[in-house]
Amino acid sequence: MQLAARKRSVKLGGKGLKGTLLLILGFSAQVLGAGLNSYADLIAKDSETTPRDGVRVTYLGTNGYQFELDGNALLVDPYFSRVDLLGIALGLRLEPDMRRVAEGIQRLAPKADAILVTHGHFDHLLDVSIVMSKTHARLIASASAVDLAKRAGASSGDAVTAGDVRRIGPWKIRVLPAMHDRLFGKVPFDQHDACSSGPPQRPADWICGEPLAFLIEAGGQRIYIDSGGRPGQLPPRERVDLAILGMALPDSRARLPGALEQLNPRFILPSHQDNFFRPLEAGFQFGSLTDFSRVRFDCEQANRGRLILLDYFRPWTLPKK
Ligand SMILES: [Zn+2]
Repeated sequence: MQLAARKRSVKLGGKGLKGTLLLILGFSAQVLGAGLNSYADLIAKDSETTPRDGVRVTYLGTNGYQFELDGNALLVDPYFSRVDLLGIALGLRLEPDMRRVAEGIQRLAPKADAILVTHGHFDHLLDVSIVMSKTHARLIASASAVDLAKRAGASSGDAVTAGDVRRIGPWKIRVLPAMHDRLFGKVPFDQHDACSSGPPQRPADWICGEPLAFLIEAGGQRIYIDSGGRPGQLPPRERVDLAILGMALPDSRARLPGALEQLNPRFILPSHQDNFFRPLEAGFQFGSLTDFSRVRFDCEQANRGRLILLDYFRPWTLPKK
């Protein structure tokens, strides 16, 4: 196993260097990473007395969410395997962790109307075919993400592009254009070096494809969600109740003030900030490339909406106005 891994990392050449950088970042995160303890005042969660008439939001880790309304559920980017960094950095064979996925699914509603996927990377799409089969949800994603999911075992998929609208149960879903952050100057695992047939096997096979954002309307409330972005591609100018904005990398943070101005949200939930190379059971820890103090500062400066954080599997009901 070790020898095979070494051979592969040698063969990968340039990717080996990137892998080493990822490893250094990952291990420094293990040492420096902080949890949510210092931000208890920002954590939103339901209490016994919370009115339950709005959309209920449950954070699943990484950029994963479950939205619930009147017994209906909608999922975004559910990812429970949380493959460790070493395997990713070395480009090892990548498979869902069946035990972790089963544990995650157990904590979801038994059925979901749909799974929305923002892009094809493993931390958004790896577990989706399994979650689909257990929750009977249909997949809504870009053509390349649907293709990957099918090659990984999904029975079907609704390939959408920006501008499309889908109505399922109480949900009206508008598909919006998005951009993926750059890492070391380029979008990681972009189209090029991936295999294009057969089941995706290595991390690089889970290509980004066409990134999407979604505007979800249900029960008179509006939620915008993406998994990151760049200043060149802002959300539409539409007031929302909740803006879930990916904040994993510097590009995302650079577009934050512009995104807040466009969306003018009542609540701001920075997302994709946790170290998703650690299992969910280890608890929330900020990823090594995040910068929550900057995010907080920019939100305060913008003075638009209340900044909140969610902890894993701790539901919060979006208050009605
Ligand atoms: Zn990604």
